[in-house]
Amino acid sequence: MYLKQIFLGALGLLFATFAQAQAPKTTANYRVVPLPQEISNTSAGAFALNAQTRIAYPKGNAALQKDAELLAQYLFEATKVRPTLTTNAQGRNLIVLSATLKNNNKEAYRLDVSKDRISINGASAAGTFYGIQTLRKAIPQTGAQKLFFPSVTINDQPRFGYRGAMLDVARHFFSFEEVKTFIDILALHNINRFHWHLTDDQGWRIEIKKYPRLTEVSSMRPETMVGHDASKFDGKPHGGFYTQEQARAIVKYAADRHIMVVPEIDMPGHMVAALAAYPELGCTGGPYKVRTTWGVAEDVLCAGNERTLKFAKDVLSEVMNIFPSEYLYIGGDECPKSSWEKCSRCQALIKEKGLATDEKHTAEERLQSYFMSDIANFITAHGAKLAVGTRFWRAE
Ligand SMILES: [Zn+2]
Repeated sequence: MYLKQIFLGALGLLFATFAQAQAPKTTANYRVVPLPQEISNTSAGAFALNAQTRIAYPKGNAALQKDAELLAQYLFEATKVRPTLTTNAQGRNLIVLSATLKNNNKEAYRLDVSKDRISINGASAAGTFYGIQTLRKAIPQTGAQKLFFPSVTINDQPRFGYRGAMLDVARHFFSFEEVKTFIDILALHNINRFHWHLTDDQGWRIEIKKYPRLTEVSSMRPETMVGHDASKFDGKPHGGFYTQEQARAIVKYAADRHIMVVPEIDMPGHMVAALAAYPELGCTGGPYKVRTTWGVAEDVLCAGNERTLKFAKDVLSEVMNIFPSEYLYIGGDECPKSSWEKCSRCQALIKEKGLATDEKHTAEERLQSYFMSDIANFITAHGAKLAVGTRFWRAE
């Protein structure tokens, strides 16, 4: 009995050693985040990824070619196997991309895995891209090179058309490369809008050719308050900005991943960094400095100054030229009215436009509506839609 156990143990060890000598085998798991709507296993068998696997896309389809290139890169990163690309969808050991799925939801896709091939068919190239993300996320993070995808049929589509995430680079600057990493993470999670918060009291991050001091002066603050204590500062300069060329590269990088970049230029509040460079745009004329503390600033753009509206429109013109987004975010929130109450130019415009205080709004609140409406008309005349913060200003 004892000898038999030793024998079986030694045999087990032998088999274990033999198994380890083979390439470790890994099986994909389709229960990923976000969980596909429908996962069904229809047949036995599995697709084995290996060095001969090819990815096919329809000839002349640039969007699916880009999807195919990204899939090859994702597979390489996960398995060190880089499939070659082809426009010939015949044969076996193929991952076939197409965008002919009939579905009213243009971001829907169907993913079929069998022993001989994987096919990902989207209702658009974006749908195909989300099928690619599901396939990619199904690969376990074990580093194994021998990878099997079990047979499956997945039908999936997003519940929401606008799936966004915001990155505030004004308060905390992120480098060009870090922004690309952020977009990679959005793509991994099937997000399709990148809300890029580019300007605020604590920093201006986008090059505007007509106003060079926005990047020379407004992009840098000398230090930052520590935690919640406005009496303690870290003594470290903080800043940075993106050139228009870099911003365009980000737009392209995001578009390749089926993500639209929605830029935010916050106004008429949240503008202290800009005022530090162009103090004539404020009610008092300054001097102002790029804010080193958090919270809502009393200093805002002077709504009574004609040059302010011109400045805002000049900036937005360049921004709309960089970003083809259907939306443009202009904040409009947290705009205290104390400086407008004391400013002769703001008060003169209130009088000229007949903006009066009533039981619903003060004259200064109506002045903000006047300012925002003018900007809104300008933006819509240029073909973009407006998105605003809703806490302090509402279109009437
Ligand atoms: Zn003013």
